[in-house]
Parts: sequence; structure tokens; C-alpha cells
Amino acid sequence: MSELRDAAMKSKAWPYEEARKILKRWPEGKPGGEAVVLQTGYGPSGLPHLGTFQEVARTQFVRHALAELADWPSRLIAFSDDMDGMRKVPPNMPHPEMLHQHIDQPLCRVPDPYGCHDSYAAHNNALLREFLDRYEFDYEFVASSECYALGRFDEQLCNVLAHWDAIMGVMLPTLGEERRATYSPVLPISPASGKVLQVPVEVIDADAGLVRFDDPDAGPIEQSILSGGAKLQWKVDWAMRWAALGVDYEMSGKDLIDSVTQSSKIARILGARPPEGFHYEMFLDEEGQKISKSKGNGLTIDEWLAYAPRESLAFYIYRDPRAAKQLSFAIIPKAVDEYHQFLAAWPGQAIDKRLGNPVHHVHAGDPPRVDMPLSFALLLNLVAVASTDDKDLLWAFVKRYAPDAAPETHPELGALIDFALAYFRDFIADALYRRAPGARGRRATRSRCRARRDARGRR
Ligand SMILES: [Zn+2]
Repeated sequence: MSELRDAAMKSKAWPYEEARKILKRWPEGKPGGEAVVLQTGYGPSGLPHLGTFQEVARTQFVRHALAELADWPSRLIAFSDDMDGMRKVPPNMPHPEMLHQHIDQPLCRVPDPYGCHDSYAAHNNALLREFLDRYEFDYEFVASSECYALGRFDEQLCNVLAHWDAIMGVMLPTLGEERRATYSPVLPISPASGKVLQVPVEVIDADAGLVRFDDPDAGPIEQSILSGGAKLQWKVDWAMRWAALGVDYEMSGKDLIDSVTQSSKIARILGARPPEGFHYEMFLDEEGQKISKSKGNGLTIDEWLAYAPRESLAFYIYRDPRAAKQLSFAIIPKAVDEYHQFLAAWPGQAIDKRLGNPVHHVHAGDPPRVDMPLSFALLLNLVAVASTDDKDLLWAFVKRYAPDAAPETHPELGALIDFALAYFRDFIADALYRRAPGARGRRATRSRCRARRDARGRR
């Protein structure tokens, strides 16, 4: 154990560098033996995508690294900002006309267009949790709506009202003239329309949580912002959450550099210490565009898992978080093969090399022994040569390369053959047999994938 700890203290692998920031934050451990809190955030404004998933996975890697460095308890919070107002209806959603009637209402109060959950947010939350659970992550799911409604944020909400001018002093210089005129750190929930209101707000009584504002549907009104009567504007909300939940660590995308700067200032005003963390680069689609929930571009988690083992996705997410990375079907075979190469190397490596090996983190320090005699690339070639989806026939081909391999003794190879068949069928066969490969073929494949995804979305 101490050998591992010594090596982890020196390792340059990024999860250890991040975890050592937490050690530096609490040189004597967190006061009272309290658990270190690592948070990830996500907005359930659309179906969860890989960008959401990767943040939880990467934070899990940091948490595991921390466990190898110190015997401290820790918690991982997956926070869903379901009090956010619905700004627009994403494409591919069923019942768009129904959803349009709920624009600006908190996502947790918009009905589920699929009809299977209590709300629009609950539906998307459930999907995210399903993905996280598939990876057996140990996390606490926390919904913003519950924290607000149950009064978990009340103390900090009064704190925000008490420091109103200082918070305005941070925010106003960052805003354009028009926005400045109506900006308020507090967004009241209209008792008339249920909408999250962006209106000027006057503090009446900070201790009682009382504010006054002009409700477009109900006129001038005095209302308590406690227990669900309001939510906070994004950057203030983030800072308040750090203070209320005692967050020690939170990473975020490069698109949030400004948010972190301002939220950190506000957290200090609230008497809290901003968490440690770093900015990861964004995932791009095959055309180099940032993937986003509203555009629905880029790979989905389901799509990756249809063509490759789940560990290969965690492996791809592990690597180079500070480099912009493409997320498209084309990268899957290489990721699968590199994953297996690292997996095969791990048992024979010295401890310092093991800690730098991605599979050490993907498998929480205990990678399985897998005998994978053939690469995914070679399997794809075999499928092409055999020109068949008969699995027995493929095993016969495989045995020419790996005479000892059999379905009973090599289940991982068996699974990879299934993936190779699916990948070949959906991405290579058309290009190979029906038309010359090129832009047209790629576009056709692409639109077919979209069609498949749309069909799934409608289910
Ligand atoms: Zn649902």
C-alpha cells in the first residue's frame, strides 16, 4: 500500500495531479474527518450526451486517485440543474407544441413528452443515471429542485440577499448595457405563470428571504425566495451551491472559464472557498463542431456502446482531457485496440508505469486479465473478407490467427466479434459494396445514424 502511495504522490498521470490539489487544499484532512466533496454538474435541458457522461467519469478517476493517496472519505455528487427554465425545445423531441407552452418554466415542472416520468427533467435525469449505473459509478444524484424545495439552500439564499450589492458589483461589469438594466442574481418563480422570471428584484428583508418584483402576469409582488420561491442566476447559483454543499473539487469545460472566475469571486463573498479543478477541452463532432444537446450532433453513449465494449469509452474519455477530441464513429476501432494494448501491458509493468496506464484508472486500480489475441482492426478485415454475418464461420477464420481461441475460453473476443459485425454492417459494408467511399458515402452513413437515433428518441 505504501509503495502504491509513494508512486501515486509522484505520478504525473492527470488524476493524481488533480487529487494532489485536494491534498494541498486540506493538508491535515478535511476538518472533523468530513468527507471530501467532488461535484459534477449537468443541465437536463436535453437528452444527456457524452459531454455530460465524461465529466462524471473523469471526476470518478480523480476520486479514485485521491483514495490511493489518502484514507479520506469522499463523496461524488452528480448535480442536476433542473430548476433552470426551459429556453427552447430541442429538435427531435416528441410533442413540441406541448413543450412550447412550457417555455421558461423550470425543467422539473415541464411535463415529460415521452410520458414515462414525472417531468421533462426527470426523464433526462433517469437516462443519465442509467448510463452512470451501467459503469457502476458510486455517486449521489442531487436535483436542484429538491434542494430548493426542501430548504437545503435557504441559509445560502439569505446569504446572497445579505451580500446583494457585492454580488452585483462582481456581475454588472461583465454584462452588456441592456442586460445590466434587468440583471438580478435572484430569479423569482412567478406564482401566476410558474415561469422563472428575469426581472429586476429589490431586497426587502434578507433574513426573511423576502424580495419585491414586478410579475408580468400578476403585477408588483412581495415574495419569499426560500423553499422553491426562486432560483439563482447561473453564476450565482453555482457559487451558492459550492457554499451550501461544501464542494472541494469540480472540473468544468473550457467554455466555462469566465463562469468559474465570477462564481469563485461570489463564493468568496459568501464566505466559501471555491473548489479545486481544471478546465477540460470540449468534444467535437466529425466536422469539428462542439457537441451540444440542442444541436443533437456528436455520438451518443448508446451509439458507442452499440459498437464497442463499454470500457473502451471510459478509456477514450480518460486520455488527454486538455486536448480537444473528436467524437465520431471513425475513432471507435482505434480506441478499442489501444485499450486492449494497455490492458495487456498492465500486469507486467512496474508500479509507476501502471499508475500512468489508463486502464489502471478505468478499472479503479484492478484491471481484469483479458486474453485478446486479435485486434478490432483485424476483426473488421476478417468480417470484410468472410463477407458474412455467420458467427461460426467467423470463429473458423479467427482460429487461423489464434488456434486456441474459442467462445467458451474467450468471451471478450466473442463480444468483440459481435461488435465488429455490427460496425462493419453499419459503417463499412455500404461504402465497400455499393459505392466508392467518399463524402457521399460518409454523409449517407451519417444520416442513417441520425435516422436511427431519431427513431430511438421517438420511442
Ligand atoms: Zn420519461
